[in-house]
Amino acid sequence: PVWEKRVRASARVRSRNGFAVLVTGAAGFVGTHVSAALKRRGDGVLGIDNFNEYYDPSLKRARQLLLERTGVYIVEGDINDEALLRKLFEVVPFTHVMHLAAQAGVRYAMENPGSYVHSNIAGFVNLLEVCKSVNPQPAIVWASSSSVYGLNTKVPFSERDRTDQPASLYAATKKAGEEIAHTYNHIYGLSLTGLRFFTVYGPWGRPDMAYFFFTRDILKGKVIPIFEAANHGTVARDFTYIDDIVRGCLGALDTAEKSTGSGGKKRGPAQLRVFNLGNTSPVPVSDLVGILERLLKIKAKRNIMKLPRNGDVQFTHANISYAQRELGYKPTTDLHSGLKKFVRWYLNYYSGGKKAVE
Ligand code: NAD
Repeated sequence: PVWEKRVRASARVRSRNGFAVLVTGAAGFVGTHVSAALKRRGDGVLGIDNFNEYYDPSLKRARQLLLERTGVYIVEGDINDEALLRKLFEVVPFTHVMHLAAQAGVRYAMENPGSYVHSNIAGFVNLLEVCKSVNPQPAIVWASSSSVYGLNTKVPFSERDRTDQPASLYAATKKAGEEIAHTYNHIYGLSLTGLRFFTVYGPWGRPDMAYFFFTRDILKGKVIPIFEAANHGTVARDFTYIDDIVRGCLGALDTAEKSTGSGGKKRGPAQLRVFNLGNTSPVPVSDLVGILERLLKIKAKRNIMKLPRNGDVQFTHANISYAQRELGYKPTTDLHSGLKKFVRWYLNYYSGGKKAVE
């Protein structure tokens, strides 16, 4: 098959550090940026994605095209397909897995709870089953989420804070992922690094996220809902720019130790780490709208509403000192500069760049 040829071709690429990375969810927002960055520095990269229709699949196809132009191939398949994963590992002895495939979003769980269990729990276990049994075992870096902090209101969140009060099914499955990682590390010696991303935004972003659909709706002159907490408190997010997140992902891959198991048998203790990757500077959602208004030069029609009990927490704020120390992680993009890049991309992608950006 064509894909096998392309996979063999990808396998021949080896970086100076000998990295061959399987990126799951490569046609996703973060997956596209991480795959492109790995390719740019010369690593062997292969993607897998099931191109599901949670949001506009044509955006995923456009990202795929972008990656193909840089020489990254994406196999179309599901991480629950054990035979396919085994085949990929037969063709390429991956040194690392960057696991980004997941069912994201907190609200969609009310419509399709099964998709969270399928991708975030069953899919992760399937991937780890394959990783544990191949020889050599790859080191795995996977996306957890700031949502694991749930109803914890002690901010900023640090990695040791409680994560036993998930506010959504999405958060519960991400938290389950961390527990599952712990068992595969403990029993099979897999090297595992979890990254709790905080509200990632930027070009090629996800249309289901607020900054994205606010931009769309402000341009259309539609009313946008801005939630405040039941106590009239501000809702704020630690918005983190995609390039900062990508640097954190690469830092995690570069500092990942080798797995210590072999053919499913453990030989010694392996690395298990979980890091916050945030921006350490939460911004109220109303200020996000203010920045978009200035960039788009359009006044938004705001509708202030009470935060419903639908899985959204009131605020997020990362303490990143652990990632700073261990991964050299240092976010450098403030919300205004990052949104400026997003808006420029958005206008170019959807309307051929005709509208002005400040
Ligand atoms: P995304 O939805 O754009 O990317 C996920 C990709 O995985 C999609 O392209 C989807 O088609 C694919 N996928 C889903 N289920 C799959 C399956 N079973 N098999 C194969 N492919 C599958 O989301 P994103 O924003 O790029 O998020 C990447 C990761 O980061 C996810 O694990 C997400 O939970 C996590 N995360 C993201 C954010 C954020 O703000 N973007 C915040 C916290 C955590």
